[in-house]
Amino acid sequence: MKPDILGYTLAQCESLAVELGDKKFRGQQLFGWMQKGAPLFEMKNLPAAFREKIAAECDYRLPEIAKKQVSKKDGTVKYLMRMTDGECVESVFMRYEHGNTVCVSCQAGCRMGCKFCASTLRGRARDLTASEILGQIVVIQRDTGERVGGIVMMGIGEPLDNYDNTVKFLRLVSSPEGLNIGLRHISVSTCGLIPGIKKLSEEGLPVTLSISLHAANDARRSSLMPVNNKYPIADLMAACRAYFEKTGRRVSFEYTLISGENDSEADAKALADLLKKGMRGPSHINLIMLNKVTETGFEAPDRKGAERFRSLLESHGMNATIRRRLGSDIDASCGQLRLNNLNE
Ligand code: SAH
Repeated sequence: MKPDILGYTLAQCESLAVELGDKKFRGQQLFGWMQKGAPLFEMKNLPAAFREKIAAECDYRLPEIAKKQVSKKDGTVKYLMRMTDGECVESVFMRYEHGNTVCVSCQAGCRMGCKFCASTLRGRARDLTASEILGQIVVIQRDTGERVGGIVMMGIGEPLDNYDNTVKFLRLVSSPEGLNIGLRHISVSTCGLIPGIKKLSEEGLPVTLSISLHAANDARRSSLMPVNNKYPIADLMAACRAYFEKTGRRVSFEYTLISGENDSEADAKALADLLKKGMRGPSHINLIMLNKVTETGFEAPDRKGAERFRSLLESHGMNATIRRRLGSDIDASCGQLRLNNLNE
């Protein structure tokens, strides 16, 4: 198999150049071009012979934009990205006041089985490689011509179920000679795979860990998220507290509001109590309005209901924000574009 060189570090590109009989600095040039998503023929300062060797000996592949939807409301761009074997995933480009953020996918499909989520409906086809995760950002920067300053791993897939590629990606994308996106501007979102949380806390990567909680008691959480049967709430809270103690990074919690499932007054109080007791330190709750996925049968509460839930949390001493819904006119909730494409 030819090496997949978009996943190479600068040092690996330099060794490659030497192996191919050229100077080390050619590797640096190649690395720089790849991070810009340039095709080989555009790499004008590289000798033609060197480029030919790369083409013959290596696999330089970028995801291809299979579909693109631009929101008329807020400029959010949603991409369906096709990998070389035909698997498609979604990536979203979002503009915020503080800069541009991209939401990336890390698996083609997902095997976690959350009942409200479109990404898991057809299971997991395969993991993405570090190069395929990075490739989504490279392609988006090239397509938009804008710099990406932040990343959320909140697309299709479970980052901690594809642990090695996720960590490799985090190191690559944050490397100063590469895209240099600060780890503090990167969120890794997980449904709560505890061994992965523990391992991640030991990597020395100051990312924001984001936990998809969605319910404050085990019975409800297990009914929405099968992963809770294996890793129940008390253990998850202990793992989050350990993560905070080890890394000094505040853990954030995602809570998708689902009408009649987890949005009552009692639910708000239970959530506040759980986090106050469980985290013993600052934590933040992101409330997400459910994006309706027809197949799941769940409904979102109305805006008023969500506001009420937020102020209840506040009255119990918890900080919460309702996540602004970017790209609501383009179906920007991850998973649906891939699914529609599979069904076509
Ligand atoms: N596997 C990771 C990333 C998933 S997507 C995780 O579980 O955290 C990011 C967030 O969107 C998660 O909190 C997920 O639970 C939530 N989500 C999934 N489907 C949703 C839907 N239909 N509406 C709103 N949020 C959803």
